[in-house]
Amino acid sequence: MTRLVLLGPPGAGKGTQAKRLAERLTVPAVSTGDIFRANVSEGTELGREAQRYMDAGEYVPDSVTNAMVADRLAEPDAAGGFLLDGYPRTAAQVAELDRMLAAGGASLDAVVELTADSEEIVARLKNRAETEGRSDDTETVIRRRLEVYTEQTAPLTRVYSERGLLVEVDGIGAVEDVTARILATLGR
Ligand code: AMP
Repeated sequence: MTRLVLLGPPGAGKGTQAKRLAERLTVPAVSTGDIFRANVSEGTELGREAQRYMDAGEYVPDSVTNAMVADRLAEPDAAGGFLLDGYPRTAAQVAELDRMLAAGGASLDAVVELTADSEEIVARLKNRAETEGRSDDTETVIRRRLEVYTEQTAPLTRVYSERGLLVEVDGIGAVEDVTARILATLGR
């Protein structure tokens, strides 16, 4: 049974690592950013609601995000575990995730914080802007996303550390080396 959260600033490599780890651990990677982007491109109501926040580098309101995650984690493939990428990002989301897990008699196994210094992050995000063309990878929006992360999400590491769940992993280096580092840290 594997229930993991991946934390870390934008550009730390969460999405890349989440997909690789999910495959290795045979649990679904649940990325709130990916779900929002899929909804934006499908033009759903949720996508329309989320897009203005995403384009500004702000967080989508907790009520919207929490309901979406609750739906996703209720799907059968998440019953045996999951890897959350990009959720929780606020204190209110931590509380909601606690509630969702407790309702199913489950709990988190670990929270992996991927670290990377800000120079590396900005370089990676600029590179991603050129290769993937994400609309929120412009310089102004990147700056805002990093600010929002520092204000709202960075404090969550302390919460999980106090619960004895936090493991810190250096996110700098070759993709496969970082994956190996995470698995080793988790004892897998
Ligand atoms: P990401 O792909 O994880 O960088 O997410 C892209 C954007 O989606 C973020 O900048 C937010 O606007 C939105 N988003 C993703 N996850 C969350 C979340 N847990 N809470 C609020 N907004 C989110």
